[in-house]
Amino acid sequence: MPAAHSTMSCAMMPSALSLAPVQRPLFIGSEIYRRSRYGSRHPLSIPRVSTVIDLCRALGWLPDPVYIDSPRATPDELARYHDRDYIAAVQRAEAAQTLDEETRRRYQLGLNGNPIFPEIFSRPATACGGSLLAARLLEQGGVVYNPAGGTHHGQPARASGFCYFNDPALGILGLLDHGLNRVFYLDLDAHHGDGVQQAFAEDERVFTLSLHEAGRWPMTKEGQGGLADTAGGTALNLPLPQGANDSEFEYLIDTIVLPLIARFEPEALVIQGGADALEEDPLSRLSLSNQALWRTVLAVRPLAPRLLMLGGGGYNPWAVARCWSGIWGLLSGQELPTVLPPEADAILRALTWRHSRGRNPPEHWFSSLADAPRTGPIRQDVRSLAREALAVADGLCLENAYA
Ligand SMILES: [Zn+2]
Repeated sequence: MPAAHSTMSCAMMPSALSLAPVQRPLFIGSEIYRRSRYGSRHPLSIPRVSTVIDLCRALGWLPDPVYIDSPRATPDELARYHDRDYIAAVQRAEAAQTLDEETRRRYQLGLNGNPIFPEIFSRPATACGGSLLAARLLEQGGVVYNPAGGTHHGQPARASGFCYFNDPALGILGLLDHGLNRVFYLDLDAHHGDGVQQAFAEDERVFTLSLHEAGRWPMTKEGQGGLADTAGGTALNLPLPQGANDSEFEYLIDTIVLPLIARFEPEALVIQGGADALEEDPLSRLSLSNQALWRTVLAVRPLAPRLLMLGGGGYNPWAVARCWSGIWGLLSGQELPTVLPPEADAILRALTWRHSRGRNPPEHWFSSLADAPRTGPIRQDVRSLAREALAVADGLCLENAYA
């Protein structure tokens, strides 16, 4: 309440000062992401979190006190959201490296982009352990970054879209279990955050907002992920036209996203920072620079006392590493270098990628973190989307019942 602040007297200051100090931003990582691969032909066969860790270390941004080795979620912890039979099937798949046909089909394991690989249980369970730990660390406020998180397609009883478990849903449940009543989930991935939206549909404590490429899986002809899909008033979806540029993204963030978050007055923000909306990504057709995502994170950060920052999609190893390292740099208050020092440059230069776009990587993928901004005209369909979204927002469950 701004009025209360403007009338705050000196007598109120001691209690304000006695609040627990906001801890410095924390980074949750694990070495499991370095050695584990989804299989040589899978889009996630590329290194991502391990490169972010190496790059941030090379830049001096990961001193020991801020780096936390991620715990692995136990089956009991996963059962806060996932069915026990499904969890047991993923564990069996890890142990045996195979499943019978009926089990594969029922749980979508070993098909449709969800391969059975050596760490099929332990790797996603580690990402979930990170998000659950983050929820606990955020009790007193602050910023926690779990770049391995963001598996937003995971369903309660099946794998979906490379996601075996749903760590954003578990992290949000953790925040609610620790006593919070208002959590805002912002999904910047090129794909609709369907699993998280479904997890909290009609739950007025959690609002989910997803910006994603129009028409791309998992959007459906029936309208899932479209503007009219509001999950009973607790979600907003902004499908972006192909080729959406930084100017269009910024326009939607400023006219729709920031006012909506401010209206919701969240106690915590959870951001899924998938890097597949970037121009260089091979799986989608949006044209953002990493600066568009960085600007968004910095703009929403002051709107809540707690931030859980997650990773997500992203299938170009250089684009992911540069984008996510930059996010950590900005969240932890670093000045981003224009030209990377030799140790950081060498880490990016050593990456390889089997994709055709990896044959002749441009020099700036090695030598810098920031892309050149990809500004452009704000097309009429983006302006129409904003206008229609404002009308939809009038009917959403945004008012703070707990204020
Ligand atoms: Zn994605």
